Amino acid sequence: MVIIVKDETLKKIIYVGIAVIIIFFFTKDIPLLKKEEIIVIDQPEDLLVLVNKTRMLPSDYIPNDLEEIDINYSNHNKYLRKDAREAFETLAKDAKDLGYFIVAVSAYRDYAYQEDLYQGYVESKGQDYADKCCAKPGHSEHQTGLSVDVMGSNLDYDEFESSPEFEWMSEHAHLYGFIMRYPKGKEDITGFKYEPWHYRYVGISEATNIYEQQLSLEEYIESIDQKK
Ligand SMILES: [Zn+2]
Repeated sequence: MVIIVKDETLKKIIYVGIAVIIIFFFTKDIPLLKKEEIIVIDQPEDLLVLVNKTRMLPSDYIPNDLEEIDINYSNHNKYLRKDAREAFETLAKDAKDLGYFIVAVSAYRDYAYQEDLYQGYVESKGQDYADKCCAKPGHSEHQTGLSVDVMGSNLDYDEFESSPEFEWMSEHAHLYGFIMRYPKGKEDITGFKYEPWHYRYVGISEATNIYEQQLSLEEYIESIDQKK
């Protein structure tokens, strides 16, 4: 049976339908239009926990083994989880014995603190800047108690890269279980700009693997998942 469409309205509906389908196929992979799903992490105490723009910590997560970092190696009142705290103090002490100066300027930060910090950046520098430099509450690694921002002998963490400590840290941090979490050239993978001062504790063997393979934590975890 042959149906002859005489009705102009019906024709228009078909054309519009085809146009919609074509537009959908050309735009479905554009990230701006694709709403990314946010995953709430179910094992936040895992040493390899991955926190980033798409994976968030529960707002009420507070590590139960936070300890204060020795004042010789930190600004006042800085906390890390037990293993990370011990490893960081050993690192800072070994560095000191070699004539370097490494202190923690920021370590554990709770959800509410991150909320204020992020909002402050949005208000002073705008949404785009805030999203590049500062994690949204729940999306900051500092809430894990495994991350530390360090400062060297030039006394400016923002200029850590130009301190002599930067080079030492780049080559030795993994021997104490720390990795540079936001390396240069991996911005599209980590979702963060290069941060030479931000280190993350994962334990010595994992840190050594990551260092030797020159991976970001995202890439490393993906490579482990593929082997499973
Ligand atoms: Zn940091």
